[in-house]
Amino acid sequence: MSIDIKFTINDILFNQESLQKKNKYTCPICFEFIYKKQIYQCKSGHHACKECWEKSLETKKECMTCKSVVNSYNDLSRCLMVERAFDKKECCCIYSFTEQIVQGGTNCSPPDGASDQNQRKLIKDEENGCKEKIEVDQIDSHLINCQYKFVTCSFKGCEKILRMNSLESHQNECGFKLVICDFCKRDDIKKKELETHYKTCPMVPIDCSQGCSVKIERKSIIDHIENDCCNTQIPCKYFEQGCKVEMKRSELQNHLERVNHQTYMGILIDKLTNQVGHSKKTHDELLKKIEDLSLLIIKFSDACLKKQVLPKALDICSNGYRNKWIISNYSSLAKSKLNCKSLSSPILLILSHHFQVCVYPKGDENKEYISLYLRVNNIEEPNSLKVEYSFTLVNVLDKSKSITKRVDKIVFISPKEWGWGKFLLSDLINKENGWLSNDDKLTIEIYIKILNEEYEPLES
Ligand SMILES: [Zn+2]
Ligand SMILES: [Zn+2]
Ligand SMILES: [Zn+2]
Ligand SMILES: [Zn+2]
Ligand SMILES: [Zn+2]
Ligand SMILES: [Zn+2]
Ligand SMILES: [Zn+2]
Repeated sequence: MSIDIKFTINDILFNQESLQKKNKYTCPICFEFIYKKQIYQCKSGHHACKECWEKSLETKKECMTCKSVVNSYNDLSRCLMVERAFDKKECCCIYSFTEQIVQGGTNCSPPDGASDQNQRKLIKDEENGCKEKIEVDQIDSHLINCQYKFVTCSFKGCEKILRMNSLESHQNECGFKLVICDFCKRDDIKKKELETHYKTCPMVPIDCSQGCSVKIERKSIIDHIENDCCNTQIPCKYFEQGCKVEMKRSELQNHLERVNHQTYMGILIDKLTNQVGHSKKTHDELLKKIEDLSLLIIKFSDACLKKQVLPKALDICSNGYRNKWIISNYSSLAKSKLNCKSLSSPILLILSHHFQVCVYPKGDENKEYISLYLRVNNIEEPNSLKVEYSFTLVNVLDKSKSITKRVDKIVFISPKEWGWGKFLLSDLINKENGWLSNDDKLTIEIYIKILNEEYEPLES
């Protein structure tokens, strides 16, 4: 079967034989019906189709019947009446037939002049074919709209050829139609494969294989059997402690109530107590390690600070030494100094003396205040050093709120720190109050003046 049936007017014309006998609607030269042909006649009324006239006039300028002179179509007249009369003759629709391929050399005798090995044969389809009667000039328009013409099912893989009016019902049932699985919502499943898909679809509910009469999505069945199913064979929950009984999960509660498990529970409690003790030990060890590590970090950052030496300020002798010490990441450093270790500034080299500023984030005895001290590192007794100095804790939001504390004269007689244990309440030191910059920096302005370097007289 093919979609387009090739046909001639002879295949579909009603009353063909009687029409042929009348000779009125066939060309007397080529004997064909005048379907889609133009008919011309000579002055004496001898007619023939246009094609036959053309062929004849190429060789002889005369009527094929009466031999009267015909130079051109001007000497002929068109037989429109005959053409129109033929147009109103009735025929059947070619889709009243089906087409059958007949193998060459079979019992069916091929039509005259057949030379193809395989012949197409029209078979009247009384049951499903088109039953309309059509006038000859309506053939083309009818064939375009005929509901009995042949089409191919458009679903991929099907390719079945069928009549247009049965396409819809076929496609509703076509096995190649794509359908949606109601369970997993996949939408690319061929209708004919849906049943097979259900056999493996992970979302289809299936009976529990252990007969617990619960329906579970296929993908969850293993989890159900391992963790929920009342029919799963499980060991007593005190199996490890010595109760070696196995039973269905549904019987566990009954077993626990019926059999005395006190001994096993004792063993379990001992084991758990041990575990808790062990965990606590590990926990303590970890805490200790964290503490050690943070001490290490503090030492390391101190060491880093000490490596850099602040640039030597000018005019040390007459006006004293002025500089700033900016401590980055102050709040995290302060937090890590759980044991009130100090933060030490880089070495301030003033004349030949090594000064350092020391900050204790919580340096007083109650750990409430930030303490600031000045330290001299390299005086050896009996040397002494007279110093005037001040520290200013800078308020970055409002300079006028900065706090300066000053010592007019102090005599350092050994490597020792002097300063203020209660410089400012530690809790006030935050960004909101302006003691820390937005990027967490604390700034201390330093003023140090060495008053003299005299030796104190020795007395004895
Ligand atoms: Zn003809
Ligand atoms: Zn003639
Ligand atoms: Zn039709
Ligand atoms: Zn189909
Ligand atoms: Zn599915
Ligand atoms: Zn089950
Ligand atoms: Zn038990």
